[in-house]
Amino acid sequence: MNICGDYEALNLMVEEALQYTKHGKVANYIPALSTANRDLLSLSIYEGESTVASAGDTFKTFTLQSISKVLALALALMDKGEDGVFSRVGMEPTGDPFNSIIKLETHSPSKPLNPMINAGALAVTNMIEGNSVDEKLGRLLSFIHELTGNSSITFNEQVAISEYNTADLNRSLAYFLKQHDVVTGNIERLLELYTKQCAIEVNCEDLAKIAYVIGNEGRHVETGRSIIPLHIARIMKTFMTTCGMYNASGEFAIKVGIPSKSGVSGAIMASVPHGPGIGIYGPSLDEKGNSIAGMKLLESLSHRYDLNIF
Ligand code: GLN
Repeated sequence: MNICGDYEALNLMVEEALQYTKHGKVANYIPALSTANRDLLSLSIYEGESTVASAGDTFKTFTLQSISKVLALALALMDKGEDGVFSRVGMEPTGDPFNSIIKLETHSPSKPLNPMINAGALAVTNMIEGNSVDEKLGRLLSFIHELTGNSSITFNEQVAISEYNTADLNRSLAYFLKQHDVVTGNIERLLELYTKQCAIEVNCEDLAKIAYVIGNEGRHVETGRSIIPLHIARIMKTFMTTCGMYNASGEFAIKVGIPSKSGVSGAIMASVPHGPGIGIYGPSLDEKGNSIAGMKLLESLSHRYDLNIF
């Protein structure tokens, strides 16, 4: 498939999807995200062997937010194995908003239902090995450097602090989980790590490369060396399909049918199995916290290039 060569069509699809940005809003519960430009939409597609196409304002950087949950999960699975990770977090979609607390209380045991909701992601981040926040974050960043081939990627301090200072709901989730022995250790350090992880900053091309590795059996984009064990890459794609777009994952699977993960910055990472990796940034969000124009763009891409995996 040579999607990257279809340059005019890609630009046109971005132009068409751009009109949907005016129907959404940028996230404002993290104050630093509220200054984003609602009218942006950018796209990168990576097809391996340095073949990349981009449209829109592609060098614009943004924070990973919830997309980081997929990468933290991979690291925790490499550190603790499936039994270790899934003893503390489940495998089922919730149908609730990403930051919901309700099922923690009504389900017994009080284990978060999956690693893509905030409660589950906090439990997963708590399992990353390392002696300090810096060491754990450093391991996650090195992993991302390897996935993208871009060793300048770091976290945005301003976004991290802005979230840390206002993360009272995530704090409540984490303290609740500590009470129920799902997380251990100092909760403020966990919040520090989680908010820094969410504030890791990339551009669309970086995101498309990460998506490509996940979609292509966890192999390095150039050398073919295994960076993510195959069974872990499968788990990542499965969670992206069942829970990656929060409580819109079912509708998204029907309309787009590509394993994808969104973040409240407006980013979406989509991994076509044995196909292209797609990175999108469009900060105007719908009421569920997904990029409104980004989802429209993925729908067009999926139709035009027959990318639906079902
Ligand atoms: N950092 C964000 C939070 O925890 C991530 C959520 C998201 O992108 N949906 O609220």
